[in-house]
Amino acid sequence: MKRAIFPGSFDPITLGHVDIINRAMNLFDEIIIAIGVNDDKKYLFSLEQRLEFIKDTFADQTKIKVQTYKGLTINYCKEIDANYILRGLRNPADFEFEKAIAQTNRNLSGIETVFLLTSANTAYISSSIVRDVYRHHGDISSLVPESVTKFTIK
Ligand code: ADP
Repeated sequence: MKRAIFPGSFDPITLGHVDIINRAMNLFDEIIIAIGVNDDKKYLFSLEQRLEFIKDTFADQTKIKVQTYKGLTINYCKEIDANYILRGLRNPADFEFEKAIAQTNRNLSGIETVFLLTSANTAYISSSIVRDVYRHHGDISSLVPESVTKFTIK
């Protein structure tokens, strides 16, 4: 069974994340979207909200599960028996940042990181831009899945 974990903060999940997950579904038997919980980090959306957005977005997909974890991603991979870490790449800055982490993770655990290049139409989307637009009451509906839009316009 090819099980991958897609780790991130997902504050909130965006159409960039959704694109990577949908495309990775052809590569893996199961994808665990894993929300990393860092007590030192401040999030805009609560953990419950972030979980709900993702569950709602992939409600019809049996191959996709959502979980939360604390600590090292490779330790969590071992715990749930995932052999691959999935990451998206948008630009050279992402690549430089991800390269060292992926090499360290492989060194420490043998776990491979699989990178998918962002689609051209979602390359510019990031959770931080979505948060900025949202905070200033802008329209985020072209940047996030419907589950997030639904919640934010309530
Ligand atoms: P982190 O806090 O780990 O950066 P994010 O939730 O921001 O978590 O991102 C999780 C993963 O999704 C990362 O691999 C990131 O590069 C990828 N990602 C984010 N936005 C996009 C996008 N627009 N296109 C492709 N990948 C993306």
